[in-house]
Parts: sequence; structure tokens; C-alpha cells
Amino acid sequence: MSVYEGPIQDLIEELGRLPGVGPKSAQRLAFHLLQVDIADAERLANAIRAVKERVRFCARCFNVSEHEECRICRDARRDPSLLCVVEEPRDVLAIEKTNEFRGRYHVLGGAISPIDGVGPDQLHIRELVRRIGDEDITEVVLATNPNIEGEATASYVSRLLKAMELKVSRIASGLPVGGDLEYADEVTLGRAFVGRRAV
Ligand SMILES: [Zn+2]
Repeated sequence: MSVYEGPIQDLIEELGRLPGVGPKSAQRLAFHLLQVDIADAERLANAIRAVKERVRFCARCFNVSEHEECRICRDARRDPSLLCVVEEPRDVLAIEKTNEFRGRYHVLGGAISPIDGVGPDQLHIRELVRRIGDEDITEVVLATNPNIEGEATASYVSRLLKAMELKVSRIASGLPVGGDLEYADEVTLGRAFVGRRAV
């Protein structure tokens, strides 16, 4: 049941579709936007439009990028022998903030979750195997989330990579179990990285 009509109701509905925004917050945000300067509202609208028009996924690692390849893949100072496997682009950001990793990344685009119908074929696992064949990678660090799906994905990938001559490690526990990497503080995540163990 719509309480309001027209544009304000449309805005409440759109905001309410965002993750973590309930009906009350959607309403509060919509009325906030109604009151801000037109310039502020336009900046927000333009930022949303720009992210959809200009940001795409890196052809090599599937991180977000404004170019064919992302900033990290293009950075020659990165250690080409080290590869960190994560679920989402936001995990790249979380790990970058720890300053503990100098290699490159591979973003899977999610985790194996039979309940949600996500199998290995829906993730960028084939591309990962191809990269390991093409690039001079000697160590793969599995930094999927410390929850059921993340663990299942890490063990699937580690089994797959077993036949290749590689060091495969998993970031250490000590992260809140069941949580997401992005919610771990930098120190905890950094420590999990340093304490990674061979699998
Ligand atoms: Zn990249």
C-alpha cells in the first residue's frame, strides 16, 4: 500500500530496494533528499549514473575498473607471483587497507552456494585456472569469507589447484566466523593474512 504518490513514492520504493535499507529508512532518506539543494541531489544522481556508465570489470581479475584492466593489474610494482582469491571487489578494498599484500587479485564474483543455485560455473573459476597457466604465479592465497559458502569455495578451489605446482594457502582463522571479510577491522584482517597457512 502506497502512502504517498508520484515521485516521492517512487523514490521511497527505489531506496527501499537497496541492501540494508528498510521501509522506515527509505522514507527518511527520501524526505531528506526532498529537502537538500538541487546541486547536492544532482551530484548524487550523477554519481549513480557515472558508476553505471563508466565502471566495468577488469578483464583480467574482475575487480571494478574504469579501464580494460584495473589499477592493481596495471601496477608493475605488484608482485606477479602472488595471487589473492576473493569473492567480491569490496574484499579487494578491505585487503588493500591492511597493507599486508603486495600481489594481485582474482575476484570470483561470489561464493559456491547450492541453496542460491550458485555453482563453480557461475564464478570466475575457469578464468582463475587459465590465469595460473598463463601468468608466473607461484602462490595463491584463498581469502574467501569465513562462512559456510566461503569455506566451501576455498576447499573447491584448493582441490582444483592441487595438481598444479603451486603453494596454496588459506588466510588464518581469528576472523569472526560467519562474517564477511569487509566487516573485519584492518588489524584483524592483516593478521589473518600474515598467519595464512598452506592447504
Ligand atoms: Zn585487475
